[in-house]
Parts: sequence; C-alpha cells; structure tokens
Amino acid sequence: MNTLIKNATIVTMEDENKVVHNGYIAIVDDRITYVGETLPEDFLPQVIIEGRDRVVLPGLINAHTHTPMVLLRSYADDLPLQEWLFEKIFPIEDKFAAEDVYWASMLGIMEMLRSGITCFADMYFFMDEVVKAVSRTGIRANLSRGLQCFEPDFNPTEDRRLLENEQLFKDWDGESNGRIRIFLGPHSVYTCVPDYLEDVAELAQKLGTGIHIHISETLKENQECLEKYGKTPVRHLYDLGIFKAHTIAAHCVHVSEEDMDILKENDVSVVYNPGSNLKLGSGITPVRNMLAKGINIALGTDGASSNNNLNMFEEIHLAALVSKGVEKEPTLVKAYDALKMATVHGAMALGIKHEVGIIKPGMKADLTIVNLNKPHFYPQHNVIANLAYSAQAADVETVLVDGRILMEKGEFKTVDDEEVIYNINKISKRIFE
Ligand SMILES: [Zn+2]
Repeated sequence: MNTLIKNATIVTMEDENKVVHNGYIAIVDDRITYVGETLPEDFLPQVIIEGRDRVVLPGLINAHTHTPMVLLRSYADDLPLQEWLFEKIFPIEDKFAAEDVYWASMLGIMEMLRSGITCFADMYFFMDEVVKAVSRTGIRANLSRGLQCFEPDFNPTEDRRLLENEQLFKDWDGESNGRIRIFLGPHSVYTCVPDYLEDVAELAQKLGTGIHIHISETLKENQECLEKYGKTPVRHLYDLGIFKAHTIAAHCVHVSEEDMDILKENDVSVVYNPGSNLKLGSGITPVRNMLAKGINIALGTDGASSNNNLNMFEEIHLAALVSKGVEKEPTLVKAYDALKMATVHGAMALGIKHEVGIIKPGMKADLTIVNLNKPHFYPQHNVIANLAYSAQAADVETVLVDGRILMEKGEFKTVDDEEVIYNINKISKRIFE
C-alpha cells in the first residue's frame, strides 16, 4: 500500500530546525520512503492524506503506563501512594477477570490514540489480553508481566508470574510485524525480594530482553530500602544485576548523585511521569541534573488511576513547565526538549530508536497528525512551541502506526468504540457494585 501525506508541516524531530513546510511524506507499506518539500517522483499513492493546516509529528511514545488501570479511573484519589496502592488498588484488582483486562486495554488504547500515542510501554497482569488488544487495534507496544514476590523462600521454577512473563516473551516478542516487544516487569524493590530480582535479571539475560521497573518513586520506598538493605533502590538493583539488561526505570524521583551516575553508566532510561508524581505527591524527578549527566529521559502517563488520563500532550506540557517552576529557571526543558522526551527519547528507552521516534526515510510510519486550524494555534509563530504549550489531545485528528491508519479525522478504524464502552460499563457495574 502506498500512502502520501501532502501539503503538511512536518516536525521531523531529527533536529530542532528540521521542520518541513508544505511538505510531503511517502509511505510504502509500513515504512517512510520519502520526506521533502516537493512531490516524490514516480510515486503512485493509493491513499492520499491532505495535510493543509495540519502538522505531522512522530507518533508519541508513552514510555510508562498500566493501560488496563483505566478501569480504576477516579476510583481512589487524593491518597498517598502506599495507601492508595495497598489498600485500594491491589484489593480491587483481585476482582479483575482476564476479559476485563481486554476491554480495559481497548478503552485505554482508544484514549491513547486520541492523544496521538502510537506506542506504549505497559506493565500489568493478564498480559495476553493486552497483547490481544494491541494486536487488534494495530498500535505498537512494549509489554511486561508485572512481577511481585514477597516470599524469601520462593522457587523460581514454580513462580507463576515469572513463568507467565517468560511464556509471554516466547509467544509474542516480535509478533504483529514487530509491533509487540516483551520485557520483564519486576514491579519495584518494595514488592520483590532480592533473590527474586536476581532471578529476574538472570532470566532477562537468558532471553536477551529488557526490564521495565519502578524505581525511587517515593521517599518511603527509599527509606525502607535503606533500612532493609543499607542501600538506595538504584544501588540495590545495580548490585542485583538488574541493569545488565536494557532497563526502563519509571519515576526515579528520589535519586542521589551517585544513583544518577549509576543510571548513566548503565544506560538506564528514566521515565518521567510528572502528572502521576504530582497527583500522588511523590515529588519531582530531578530532570535538570539528569539532563546535565546525559541520562535519557522519556515521558509517561503512568496508569489512569494516578493521573487520571492517558494524555501525552498534558505530560509534554507538564514536563516543559514543572522544572521551570521548581528550579526557578525558565530556560529549562524547552518546548523542543519536552517533545523529544515524548518521541526520540521514548524510542531510545524502549530500545526501538532505529524504528520510530523520528520522521525520515527508512523509519516505520508511526505518525500523529494534529489539526492546526484552531483558535489556540494562531498566529503560527512557532509550531514546536505550539505543540508543547498550546496543543490539546483533542487536536489530534489522524494517527498511523506501521503505515496503517488507525484513526482518521477522529474516527477509529480498528475499534468499535460503542462496543468497548458498553463492555466497560458492564464490567464496572460487576466490579464496583
Ligand atoms: Zn507505574
């Protein structure tokens, strides 16, 4: 299938000055073959997308979330993390059936597509259901089975969660034309005993895959880790061998200089979740110091129960604002830096920087098209600043993943939205009433 996008403003994210005006993008099947200011020669498109008054940017990458948690949106709010998690979230999650996770994933994916997200990194359970939703909708995803173990004398060869994650990898890594990647998902240092984390690290090595984990989200996590093991969570995980695998580290709010050096030396990518960190009162990730050290910082929404939405434009906006306010430094996290976190750096974090995150020939055609013909985009002095500071999720009009149109002018092509909402209401009634 040949697809042509014409007359569009193209924010390539290759570098800040590389914005193409009145440009063309040619797509053959799943890949971009041409980006430029003139019509590509000898290109016969079967599908033409009109780009006048539209900006095309690389599909946004939500580098840390728990998609099915949309079911728990606005169910438990305004609580500290540990109370929220252990007293509210974990008990209600025990009532979830596999099918609930499927419909919740469909709802979460609909919401993500609406905000221009083309790829997400997820950690949850009943992951085969998330895989099914990813496969059916056509979105791209990095999935891991959330792993927990509180028992010091567990048997790794019989651990249900670990076996499920391994099976998930064997069944699905690289499937759906490479759209699905499987990592291991040890939840955190406070939900996994050390021997268990060591086994996870070994399994990651054996499978040749990466790890997705929460690190130093709250002060309480750090204090308990220091009391129990005499080390910070970063040091503890490093000593257990976790960082030998390609690691996505969500949060890293409370990290020391030494922790940051360890993260940098081990190429660990940090996922900044400003919305969730603010809402749970966890604190602010030290973005300034991390950037100075050259740590890769991606951006995430976290789950919709601690956000309470999966809107990447909101996270981009927060990422660009929060550090300026906290550090009293308006030059920090410029508009372009915030967009980079949501695209280029997200792709690096997920280990797919050669596939997505930039618009150029050879890359996968994962694209988000935003309608600029709205009052809040005029006058159009600077499209990058407009995207970081003025854009809303509702401005996203069309989304492509792997060259396939998943949403066109606000209409889903692969999802029956009425069916999803019907099922969500039914599930919600059963679980909460
Ligand atoms: Zn999380």
